[in-house]
Amino acid sequence: MRVLVIGGGIGGLALAHGLRGAGVEVSVHERDRAVGSRWEGYRIHINPTGARALNALLPAGAWQEFLATAGPGGDFGFLTEQLRQLMVVEETIMYPDAAEASEGHYAADRATLRRLLTGGLEDVVRFGAEFVGYEQRSDGRVEARFADGSTAVGDVLVGADGPASRVRGQLLPQAVPVDAGVVGVAHKIWLDDDDARASLGRLGTGMNAVQPNAPCFLFTSVFEPPAATGARPYVLCALVARAEVFPSDVTELDAAALRAVVDVLVAGWHPDLRRALAGADPESRSAVAFRAAPPVPVWPSGAVTVLGDAVHVMPPIGGLGGNTALRDAHLLSRLLPAAARGDRALPDALGEYEAEMRDYGTAAVRYAVGQAEQLLTPGAAATAATRAFFRLCAAVPALRRRAFASGWTAPAAPRAWERSPASVNA
Ligand SMILES: Cc1cc2nc3c(=O)[nH]c(=O)nc-3n(C[C@H](O)[C@H](O)[C@H](O)COP(=O)(O)OP(=O)(O)OC[C@H]3O[C@@H](n4cnc5c(N)ncnc54)[C@H](O)[C@@H]3O)c2cc1C
Repeated sequence: MRVLVIGGGIGGLALAHGLRGAGVEVSVHERDRAVGSRWEGYRIHINPTGARALNALLPAGAWQEFLATAGPGGDFGFLTEQLRQLMVVEETIMYPDAAEASEGHYAADRATLRRLLTGGLEDVVRFGAEFVGYEQRSDGRVEARFADGSTAVGDVLVGADGPASRVRGQLLPQAVPVDAGVVGVAHKIWLDDDDARASLGRLGTGMNAVQPNAPCFLFTSVFEPPAATGARPYVLCALVARAEVFPSDVTELDAAALRAVVDVLVAGWHPDLRRALAGADPESRSAVAFRAAPPVPVWPSGAVTVLGDAVHVMPPIGGLGGNTALRDAHLLSRLLPAAARGDRALPDALGEYEAEMRDYGTAAVRYAVGQAEQLLTPGAAATAATRAFFRLCAAVPALRRRAFASGWTAPAAPRAWERSPASVNA
């Protein structure tokens, strides 16, 4: 059996490792000219779902390299816009099994992760291959067509080509993601200066949400790479608000214009925080309009399927998108080898993947959209009540545990199939 993967992002590359490790022939067709040919963005939060998948799919050396290059995920704090700490939810509440590396959570540099995921797949990944469409052949196989006129034939075609997926566009033309009506403006504040770290206080550690009495919030997450990597630590700060709060062309604005927009939105916030945001690395400032996929539809299983953002893109609130793409890759890597060996029919294996993915993928999108709704519709009374509740939780650990454990653990809790032996190659 030959598997064609369209898209060499997080999900597509993880799948290629899993399939190759299980002895299934696979090729990845990626539009980028090379690894590192575009800016990869900020750090990504890998939760236990993602860690479990990376541990199962990557060769042992690459998994160790992931652990050696990623930073800790940290606790999650809640603060007012005056930098008054309301409560910190400890890692042990969010991810109770995190003492085990494959059940941990991490802040990973995206460029490092993609380089690591490409390692060992040099003979499998074809760069500069822009997919344009596929044909279902009469012999049951699929032919993929590329912009340079080349073609590739396989028994299975997996669309891992991100939110604007052309594979999904052809397979499921009805499943177009919608604009979620929410925009995030992200910045990097370098932390290699001790004064910068000190002025940020709690924001200089772990993850945090700064929640003003206004329909916006600031998410922060520290990337603290192990010293041996030589990488610079920074805090990612993303100011998130409804799209109507921003100028209509916010995603087109340059760094200086974005700085001015953010400055207006944070007027009245603590001066240290305003100063830190204004002093963020200008080249790191960017605005992203969040999208949300409709519930994953049901389709007759055939030789073409989809994974990751191609089928369940979601606002990055809660950090589930990449982890869910890794979960997809993990599941497919468990199911396709049996079909490759002839132990089960291919549509049957793909149908099992699609049913399970539809369940957790749709739930993850719903969770992210729900989080956005909740965080962006406060009102004075609700803000006061939330703050009082957070202070109470800060004072009473048992209440904190009861109130917050399920919120974090549920989306990342192992599915039944994730509880069985770690390596798909075992
Ligand atoms: C600001 C922000 C912060 C986020 N933070 C987190 C986080 O902390 N944790 C988390 O889990 N998720 C996070 N996400 C979501 C996460 O980035 C995505 O869910 C994840 O990248 C999806 O992986 P993927 O492999 O499905 O798609 P992608 O990573 O988008 O990869 C798709 C690949 O397909 C290629 N491609 C596209 N079209 C074609 C074509 N026609 N032919 C060939 N190749 C093609 C692209 O070049 C790309 O390499 C965040 C997203 C954003 C926007």
